[in-house]
Amino acid sequence: MLKNDLIDQWDRDHFFHPSTHLAQHARGETPNRIVTGGKGVFIEDRDGNRLLDAFAGLYCVNVGYGRPEIAEAIAAQAKELAYYHAYVGHGTEASVTLAKMVLERAPKNMSKVYFGLGGSDANETNVKLVWYYNNILGRPEKKKIVSRWRGYHGSGLVTGSLTGLKLFHDKFDLPLDRILHTEAPYFYRRPDLAMSEADFVAHCVAELEALIEREGADTIAAFIGEPVLGTGGIVPPPAGYWEAIQTVLKKHDILLIADEVVTGFGRLGTMFGSDHFGIEADIITIAKGLTSAYAPLSGSIISKRVWEVLERGTDENGPIGHGWTYSAHPIGAAAGVANLELIDSLGLVKNAGETGAYLNGAMKDALGRHANVGDVRGEGMLCAVEFVDDKDKRTFFDPARKIGPAVAAALLKKGVIARAMPQGDILGFAPPLCLTRAEADEIVGKTADAVKDVLG
Ligand code: PLP
Repeated sequence: MLKNDLIDQWDRDHFFHPSTHLAQHARGETPNRIVTGGKGVFIEDRDGNRLLDAFAGLYCVNVGYGRPEIAEAIAAQAKELAYYHAYVGHGTEASVTLAKMVLERAPKNMSKVYFGLGGSDANETNVKLVWYYNNILGRPEKKKIVSRWRGYHGSGLVTGSLTGLKLFHDKFDLPLDRILHTEAPYFYRRPDLAMSEADFVAHCVAELEALIEREGADTIAAFIGEPVLGTGGIVPPPAGYWEAIQTVLKKHDILLIADEVVTGFGRLGTMFGSDHFGIEADIITIAKGLTSAYAPLSGSIISKRVWEVLERGTDENGPIGHGWTYSAHPIGAAAGVANLELIDSLGLVKNAGETGAYLNGAMKDALGRHANVGDVRGEGMLCAVEFVDDKDKRTFFDPARKIGPAVAAALLKKGVIARAMPQGDILGFAPPLCLTRAEADEIVGKTADAVKDVLG
């Protein structure tokens, strides 16, 4: 391992970090961290700090850090065959096995898996396949994709457009044409506080219906949504939301893409978020938990309904003109196989449901009555605390005060990593699925102390 006194300077001088204030970082005004190791829910940095990672990296290290089973599977694959492509019918034992394992765990109406590298490219694939699908069906006008405000689907050109967060659009000339946004199922921020959950679901449905009416159903190809909004603020939907939305989509023959990059492989206490909410998707996006981020790999799980049309398309037009050099990379696939085996053998889906419920309950008990905590919410091993200036009026703090980042920084000083979500003063938690109750207690206790430090 590289050990020298210049690493901090090299970082400032050479490394372009994603999602970072570039100028402040280059000037050395914001802290950096060189991470060197990890075990279970903890990471270690070069300065000897040991931190409880209550966000599992970027909600991806689902089995926890330092699992030798996955490291050994990667090493064995690299020694045997580090790479071969998957074009024109090629594959490896690892990629074929992983496809079978994913399908065994996926909802019953699914048929095949296309493997990519990350969540963004998987959603790019999905949009292309939806367009292809409607061209084969002779509906060239049916191409627009509806996403939700506060949805997160990646930061590519189309996927950054699908993402419904200001930071990802402004100055990048996004969203592109053909991408539309509708109301987020964000009950705490409903337009009228008198609305019940059922009223608010009816409102979301009416907004979607109005958008479809305005644009014309024959121009709208698909709706994309995360079962639980993630980066947009960790927002579980109100009861009945998915059922009501699916009724609208079916009525207008609009495909449903369930973006399960965060919720896939156990995070909600079920193998997929679709199982949790009764979502019957036409395409499911997977990444993160597929390999627990031990190697980059994503996937698009394609339903029988879509697959039949894709097959027809290649009979009519020849091989599908879509593929990456690294699709189904054997090292990623080997990591995926070992990871899914580990999720089963450690009972992590069950633990995510049980310890996640414990974490959410304890967080609510500790912070629910605080004058500046408007909402404590979550589902499975996802939890969020939303801060407000005035609890009754639900008013936001002045964004310049950066309350969310301030609480995250205070918590970090106490040795726990949580994420200040990018829009609003929301502190997010998404620990590895192997979290214990004692570790959940540590997260909650230190969060309560950090909130006290910042807000009193
Ligand atoms: N979809 C969802 C729901 C995500 O949360 C993310 C990333 O956080 C993505 C897609 C994009 O994945 P990636 O960052 O691997 O491109």
